Amino acid sequence: MIIEISFWFVLIAIFVFGLIAGSFVNCAIWRFGAGESALKGRSYCPKCKHQLSWFDLAPVFSFLILRGKCRYCQKPISWQYPAVELAMGGLFCAAALTVYPAIFGGRISPFLFLELAAYWLFLAAMVMIFVADWRWYLIPDGALIAGFFAALILLGARMAKDWFLFGQIDIGVAIDPLIGAAFAGALFLAIFLASRGKWMGFGDVKLVFLMGFFLGFAPVLAALFLANLFGAIMGIGLICAKKKKMSSQIPFGPFLVFGALAAIFFSSAMINWYLSVGI
Ligand SMILES: [Zn+2]
Repeated sequence: MIIEISFWFVLIAIFVFGLIAGSFVNCAIWRFGAGESALKGRSYCPKCKHQLSWFDLAPVFSFLILRGKCRYCQKPISWQYPAVELAMGGLFCAAALTVYPAIFGGRISPFLFLELAAYWLFLAAMVMIFVADWRWYLIPDGALIAGFFAALILLGARMAKDWFLFGQIDIGVAIDPLIGAAFAGALFLAIFLASRGKWMGFGDVKLVFLMGFFLGFAPVLAALFLANLFGAIMGIGLICAKKKKMSSQIPFGPFLVFGALAAIFFSSAMINWYLSVGI
């Protein structure tokens, strides 16, 4: 009974933390789109420029209380704001359940907590890339740099854990991200050069390099495979629905992000399935 109470308490705390992180991601996305440097100055309504107070900025709740309209000019607020916040809340909880389930029993491990923090930072970068590429066909360098820091924190946490627990560093742990980054980056660079930038932008090359560095070799393979599968299904669907022509541009970044998320949350299940089928 005590364990159950602590489970829900920790889960709700992480969800709320994810919502708050989501409102920072919204802020960074909006300022990126508006061409300002992220996280500088006070937040304001993009339509009437009225400065917002803290009670206009409470994640999700403000949107519900204001019924999706600006308090000052009554213009509608984009549903992107609560959607990003809810997605971040959900992803933060999913990462904790996947990476560090012991935290729900109240067991504290500094290395696992650092790994979880790295996942949270990486997921925030992925959400920002998803929205920015969907809206503006651009992958922000700031988000890629944040993701790169997340990968370094993850690598550092894993190496420190090996060092403190076993007194030595597993060389495979250090090499796997480099192989993942080199393979994914080289593959997409080749496609980029062969198509002269027509099939994908250079931002996609940088994104898969980052994904390889964070995920490692086997999971980034799964992520790229799934991204292509999702992209093909979506593309065929849109062409059949006559919403897009064969030649029209669909950003690939959001599919790569979906692939990365699937690799994070389902890759061990996928690899087990792959091994059990025995292809
Ligand atoms: Zn307004």
